[in-house]
Amino acid sequence: MKTLLKNVSLHGKKVDVLIEGNRFKKISESITEEADKTINCDGKAIEPAFYNCHTHISMTILKGLGDDKELHNWLIQDIWPREAKMIPQDIYYASKFAILEMIKGGTVFCNDMYQYGEETMKAIDEMGIRGVVSKPEIDIPTPNLLEKKKQIVQAFADYKNINEKRIIKGVSCHSVYTVSAEFLQFYSDIAKKYNMPIHIHACETKFEVERCLKKHGCTPIEYLEKFDLLTDKTILAHCVHLSDNDIQIIKKHNTKIAHCPVSNFKLKSGLMAFQKLHDEGVLVTLGTDGSASNNSLGMLEEMKVCALNAKTQANSSKAGNVNDIYKAATINGAKAFGIDAGVIEEGKIADFVLYDLNHYLLLPNYNLISNIVYAAQNDCITDVFCDGKQLMCNKKVENEEKIIEDFKKLAEKFKNVK
Ligand SMILES: [Zn+2]
Repeated sequence: MKTLLKNVSLHGKKVDVLIEGNRFKKISESITEEADKTINCDGKAIEPAFYNCHTHISMTILKGLGDDKELHNWLIQDIWPREAKMIPQDIYYASKFAILEMIKGGTVFCNDMYQYGEETMKAIDEMGIRGVVSKPEIDIPTPNLLEKKKQIVQAFADYKNINEKRIIKGVSCHSVYTVSAEFLQFYSDIAKKYNMPIHIHACETKFEVERCLKKHGCTPIEYLEKFDLLTDKTILAHCVHLSDNDIQIIKKHNTKIAHCPVSNFKLKSGLMAFQKLHDEGVLVTLGTDGSASNNSLGMLEEMKVCALNAKTQANSSKAGNVNDIYKAATINGAKAFGIDAGVIEEGKIADFVLYDLNHYLLLPNYNLISNIVYAAQNDCITDVFCDGKQLMCNKKVENEEKIIEDFKKLAEKFKNVK
């Protein structure tokens, strides 16, 4: 399949872009080659798509429940009773709706951690995006369930990947406060044996760090290192409370970070040192976290809040450079998972979005990247491609009405759970 984009703006210059299969074949001033599909892109700009590097997409079904509560009460009163009522099919419909939201906002990848990952995989496959899927089994405070939980993790590692091209199976240790030492070691062994990426919530709150220091005599980062859980295929979500030594350990192992500024603000977890980590050369990506603590899966908004967080934390208007933040949301996410994309160049995988340059939010067009990070909203995005395939055409995603209807029905089930 060949797709030809005519007259699209790339770095302020009009070009033609030819996509063959899943890659950019040719980018030049004028391409006359025949294509299966030709799209007139006058007035549109081509830019990389977004990679959401920490989320729990199906939690979208819990959006708007228990805002403004203290974390523990929120979990006990609003989240856990509903999660206990979830069946695999619910995760499938919630995931499809969440992916629809992501595509509308230019996101083509999620690093997901939630129960019934097999259903999330099915939704990712059908919707055409990419994803890393993992199931976070925990054994604190239920040590009697450890063996059963190990079997679930093992079964998922052995579960057949339904789309090797766009889906990666991973392991997720939820956190050092919900997973015992024995289980952490088990996760580490499984990740090594099956060469899977590792996904962990780490140093999200001050409480988590203090508890770990008290219980284990070291920080969560130092503790995870003991189990060989810090690798170049590990992504640590949040990392709000890191010591200087933690940063050096993360660097030593080439471990990646998923920064989730909106969730950190909403749960009052603290300000992450974006600029410091960037200056230290740590690969920082962006994630939205789940919609229960965000309450959106929008990467445009995440970038803006990332900039504001960086400036406030470093107490400097120079912190959180607009281009660095844009990279965190695009190419850094692709790099973190070894996806040969995140930039519009010949030979690269064609994951990209088209922006409407005449949209009022993108005017005046002095600096498109600045406009995308600080001013754009989903409505500025007209088309989305993943792996060379068009997922959104003129703001319409295939079957979106049905996906929305199914989700509305599902929401009835979770409205009044006690
Ligand atoms: Zn999370």
